[in-house]
Amino acid sequence: MKNIRNFAIIAHVDHGKSTLADRMLEITKTVEHRLMQNQLLDSNPIERERGITIKLAPVRMLYTLNAIRYTLNLIDTPGHVDFSYEVNRSLAACEGAILVVDATQGVQAQTLSHFNQAKKLGLVIIPAINKIDINIAEVENTKKQLIDLLGFSESDLHYISAKTGTGVPELLEAVIQKIPSPNTENRTLNTRALIFNSNFDPHLGAIAWVRIIDGQIKVRDRIKLLATNAETVAVEVGVFIPGRHDTGILEAGEVGYVVTGLKDLSLLTVGDTLTAMNYEPKTMNPLPGYKPIKPVVFVGLYPVDGSQINTLREGLEKLKLSDSALTFVPEFSPALGNGFRVGLLGLLHADIVQERLEREFDLNLIASAPSVSYEIFTMNHELITINSAAALPDPSLINQIREPIIKLSIFVPEEYVGAVMQLCQNYRSEMLDMVYLNKLVNLTYKMPFSELVRQFFDNLKSASSGYATLDYEIIGFETSDLVRLDVLIANDRVDAFSQIVPRERAVYIARDLVERLEKIIPRQQYEIIIQAAIGSKILARADIKPFRKDVIAKLSGGDQTRKDKLLKKQKKGKARMKRVGRIDIPQEAFLSILKIN
Ligand code: GDP
Ligand code: MG
Repeated sequence: MKNIRNFAIIAHVDHGKSTLADRMLEITKTVEHRLMQNQLLDSNPIERERGITIKLAPVRMLYTLNAIRYTLNLIDTPGHVDFSYEVNRSLAACEGAILVVDATQGVQAQTLSHFNQAKKLGLVIIPAINKIDINIAEVENTKKQLIDLLGFSESDLHYISAKTGTGVPELLEAVIQKIPSPNTENRTLNTRALIFNSNFDPHLGAIAWVRIIDGQIKVRDRIKLLATNAETVAVEVGVFIPGRHDTGILEAGEVGYVVTGLKDLSLLTVGDTLTAMNYEPKTMNPLPGYKPIKPVVFVGLYPVDGSQINTLREGLEKLKLSDSALTFVPEFSPALGNGFRVGLLGLLHADIVQERLEREFDLNLIASAPSVSYEIFTMNHELITINSAAALPDPSLINQIREPIIKLSIFVPEEYVGAVMQLCQNYRSEMLDMVYLNKLVNLTYKMPFSELVRQFFDNLKSASSGYATLDYEIIGFETSDLVRLDVLIANDRVDAFSQIVPRERAVYIARDLVERLEKIIPRQQYEIIIQAAIGSKILARADIKPFRKDVIAKLSGGDQTRKDKLLKKQKKGKARMKRVGRIDIPQEAFLSILKIN
């Protein structure tokens, strides 16, 4: 019988998950010392640069304790709210989790949300207070929070430094002692494996990352995916160490991968059950899957150079192969030309996708301001879902507009509570709860999701000197009195500037927006009139006087090279501008529409 432990490391972002994983790889000698680098499991260049984990990463370690040999399957997980579905997937493949809490910060928003997910799945949770090597670490307060808020008892707690390795061997021992071995007696049953992730390899095709629940999978077995009915043959079967390591077989309780040979990743859905056909299973019940992931934030992406539209399409197609949460449909904007409306899990996800497209596919993109989805009930009783303001039907056709509502949880040190509460008042929020826990306060709000997209996170960070953290979940849709606010530049409606706003605040937002655009749009050859309007009703207006003439006029006489230089300099500043009609509009302007002062 195999001694297996399947566990995940969960924590708020930056609390030390990946560093702890590094120490465990060292202690178990999984990675040779000379190959060791920091946050080894963060394999994507953007993950390494930004120091964040985006994708979950499994690794198999072998470890001997008291002369017994154990197989430890560790899954490192991302901490950021946008990627919490990755955490959920990882946890479903495990019997236990280490909950890491940074002692310099204490319990934070994702500490609580990941803890709750693990608890819901019935996992054994081992709490570890990290960074005790730092002299400002607030070990006592963190300890109290774990006991009072999360219900641990003092004897459960581990005190570690993932950096120096203090306490990590003891933590590994606790993993072995406290987390149960998976049921490995099901080896003879019909095979059922939970697909908890997938990736696409250009040479090997679609690869399923699996946790074998019952039975076994061997190389060359005929396999079937229950959701899509796709049948194929297991080309290679193995474990991650952390690269792929061919073992030829995976048995009940084990975590590893199956190279399916499928060339179409969409046949391999995460959460599906994979079965081996060797026993001709007659009735095979699929394992309970996951909630399908749905994009919640939408941005329009347009190449600055319109001829790059096909490169953008190819880029999105490639990224989608390894990012099943990404969706995109072609979109035409009268102002910006051809582009795509891209569906994403949140603002960080949007940022990362845009950065990867620009970097890996050499694109220069203009992004429209992010939008959420709205449900529209039309006068003739149809329900349509839109995810851009420009798609909102004429008001005369609309019976009701419903918008997504979130439950927002904020953790903030006591001294910033006042500032944070004041900030929330600007965001159509309603306070649901407020709990004091040793120097920290947990505030819970109900808020329209569209408000969060209005730079709430940035403003929360400044209101709290960077200390506040947040987590949210969409809890439903509610009817609101909303209207579309349009922006006209030189009397033309620029669709990319349209936004859906609460009617009662439309005038205020219109004035603010026009004022801001006036500052951002550079003076040009012509006078530019900027207007904000609901339908044909103009709510605010500003005029930008022409400028370019003056630049050249100032140079008396005909020093042509100097003139050229000046014009060139002006042009360079336009790298990220999009020409709309005859006016150049900088990227910043498109994003500024969601700002709140
Ligand atoms: P993750 O986001 O939870 O994966 O966190 P990382 O492992 O990437 O760590 C975030 C930062 O905290 C990195 O700069 C680490 O070097 C640092 N860090 C992690 N653990 C410790 C620790 O025990 N002590 C100290 N001093 N720094 C640590
Ligand atoms: Mg990490």
